[in-house]
Amino acid sequence: AKNNARGSSIIFSEKHEQIIRKKSLIELALGQSVKKQQIKIYYQPIVDGQNGEILGFESLARWFHPELGQISPEQFIVTAEKMGMVTEITLYLFEQAIQDLKAWPERIYLSFNLSVHDVINRATLAQLGSILDKYQIPTNRVQFEITETTMMSDLEHCSNITKELQQQGFLIALDDFGSGYSSLSYIHKLAFDTLKIDRSFVQNIQQDARSRGVVKTILELCSSFEVRCTVEGVESKEQKDLLLELGCRNMQGYHFYRPAPFEYFKFDEP
Ligand code: C2E
Ligand code: CA
Ligand code: CA
Ligand code: CA
Repeated sequence: AKNNARGSSIIFSEKHEQIIRKKSLIELALGQSVKKQQIKIYYQPIVDGQNGEILGFESLARWFHPELGQISPEQFIVTAEKMGMVTEITLYLFEQAIQDLKAWPERIYLSFNLSVHDVINRATLAQLGSILDKYQIPTNRVQFEITETTMMSDLEHCSNITKELQQQGFLIALDDFGSGYSSLSYIHKLAFDTLKIDRSFVQNIQQDARSRGVVKTILELCSSFEVRCTVEGVESKEQKDLLLELGCRNMQGYHFYRPAPFEYFKFDEP
């Protein structure tokens, strides 16, 4: 009886805790955000640094809440992950992005960020595929960006998943490369098409010979792996010129374009 009593009191206290745990304002609001269409996509072009030509667009989520204001994706994606809401947000954003992609010239690709929850969930990945079928967009116009932190969370599984996605025709970008701690110990185990150099390396590239050295080494790595390379966070002409000198072509950053809504980008060609 004593054991029982103790057992039930533990169950009680857990439930009790769940009930009285106050959801933060953000959690409450986030639960409504998709239905209320408060989450929008901004696009940032990925360009050829040599001539400024737009090659593709990275979609970046923006949450505008009437009272809380604009909440950064870094903040709300983490909350959504905790609440088990990421799948809903991912599918909602992806469908929006694919509709937008249909309006752009065929040579333009979409680069879409996946959260760790999306990557480990085969059902979600299948649903992303169905959205492409629905809008008749070929898989090779879509690149999935997966951060090295996500990859590291389950290397074995992620390398299988990225291989499968590549077999379906999707492109894979290894995002935020160099921001983690053990990049070189896993990179040879992963299948990907593009490596995105984290913007922390670009920040100091003019003053710091070591940053230049790291970028140069990563570019050499890319060429020996036969993968493309994109540099993020290019903010000035000086940085751009230096990166071109180092042999980098694909770039992204405020120097070229800030993220902006779909309507901002117009193409004359079909
Ligand atoms: P990320 O994928 O590394 O995206 C690049 C971030 O750098 C974006 O921040 C972008 O606005 C910003 N950025 C671009 N150019 C420059 C520049 O020249 N200088 C500086 N200082 N920053 C620049 P944002 O939009 O706040 O997104 C932050 C992170 O949130 C993203 O980092 C990505 O990890 C995540 N995220 C954004 N949208 C989504 C989404 O739809 N799904 C998922 N799962 N994650 C997303
Ligand atoms: Ca990204
Ligand atoms: Ca990145
Ligand atoms: Ca990042």
